[in-house]
Amino acid sequence: MTLYNIFDRYLFLPLGDLVYGSCVVAKLKEMRHNDHLTEKEIRNIQDEKLQRLVQHCYKTVPYYTKLFDRLGIKPEQIRTREDLKVLPVLTKQIIRDNYNDLFSTSVDPKRLRNKSTGGSTGTPLKFCTDNAEWSSWKASTLRAWEWYGLHLGDKIFSLGGNSINQKNNIFSFKGLYDRIIMRNNKFSSADVSDECMQRHYNTLMKLKPSAIRGYGSALYILARYIEKNNLPVCPVKVVLTTGEVLVPDYRRKLQEVFKAPVYDAYGAGDGGILSHECPKHEGLHISEESCIIEITDEQGNPKPDGITGQVCTTDLDNYAFPFLRYLVGDMAYIKKEKCSCGRASRLIGEVMGRAGKLIYNKQGTPISPIMLWIMMYPQLNYHVAEHQNVYSKIDKFQIRQDKEGDILILLKIKDPNEPKEQFNYILDNYRKHFVGSTVDIQFVEEIPCLPSGKEDYCMSEYEYNV
Ligand SMILES: [Zn+2]
Repeated sequence: MTLYNIFDRYLFLPLGDLVYGSCVVAKLKEMRHNDHLTEKEIRNIQDEKLQRLVQHCYKTVPYYTKLFDRLGIKPEQIRTREDLKVLPVLTKQIIRDNYNDLFSTSVDPKRLRNKSTGGSTGTPLKFCTDNAEWSSWKASTLRAWEWYGLHLGDKIFSLGGNSINQKNNIFSFKGLYDRIIMRNNKFSSADVSDECMQRHYNTLMKLKPSAIRGYGSALYILARYIEKNNLPVCPVKVVLTTGEVLVPDYRRKLQEVFKAPVYDAYGAGDGGILSHECPKHEGLHISEESCIIEITDEQGNPKPDGITGQVCTTDLDNYAFPFLRYLVGDMAYIKKEKCSCGRASRLIGEVMGRAGKLIYNKQGTPISPIMLWIMMYPQLNYHVAEHQNVYSKIDKFQIRQDKEGDILILLKIKDPNEPKEQFNYILDNYRKHFVGSTVDIQFVEEIPCLPSGKEDYCMSEYEYNV
């Protein structure tokens, strides 16, 4: 450990908690301890937190009070993970329709943290969390980094879209937190041109980080650029991927080019899910002390381990805007086996739904589905009024790429009488990424289901042979 690591761990992080009103130090200590617990001990923590949360929801969250009363459910009935099935699932649509009723009346509005996330239908969802939830999130990430020999204070180079690349004012508290405590240097993956890749490469070499982090697809594009140009790379401890499903090809390429192990993570800010691979690479360890994950059908009927279904999550730490049995919109399964590393937490096997089919432009550069979404909402701060204005005009969208590689954007806007020119920025964004393809927008009244029957926001028939 360097001197910076020691200062960061024992001085900056506790100081951050003090200024921010968070409790990362305490949570991290707790999580390190939980790593050695038995399955039964973890279940006890989970059950106890669940009972407390359900009582809180019934007493202080109008949506849940009404729901429990309507269904004749008493909060005391829900004592374990298995009991949750008496509750109906919470969908994105229910959240939109009951947004104001989902806030707890006992939480100080000043302590709320506004968040937003994309959805598989392309419509953003806004929600809130509080400091405790945020602290668990950070602690769970830091615990996983420790598994890989990465310590707080080690430099990180991050490449991604919105969720890992919020443009924080560098002098804001969050900006300072990122730079000084997390030492996370964030760069946008929106531009995939060679010039931009060269800039990222130069930064990387200058920064000499301990870890490279980002969307698998964004890092893959950088890795391919480095490989194509035969550029030397500085040694890194690990490559950390997040935000979308890590395709095996990407993992191989990242490992080859950066000469470091690749660890994937799967999380959903809405729903408090965090899960990380351990050095055994046998699946993603769920942070069971922070969330309960069930795999269900669309109605919330649980599926057995080993069977793929909807990810349905209960966030055990978000008391401000509680999520009980929330359908995230991803598909996954939970492994029947435990990890050979000895940790008792359950493992998520494969996650589906965040990658879909990869889309290539005519130059053979992969554009990940998450980027298609980002290009639609270029200023991704859902809570800034003028951005909200743009978001609020788009209801849904779908991107279709035909066999020739041309792009058609189906756009359903809320008010058909809106002047269409204001959406031209979408065309500009897409044309920048799909050079040589025809890109058009078609305004539609309804977004059709894809031939697979699935409601999704991208589909491609274009085959690019890499
Ligand atoms: Zn493990």
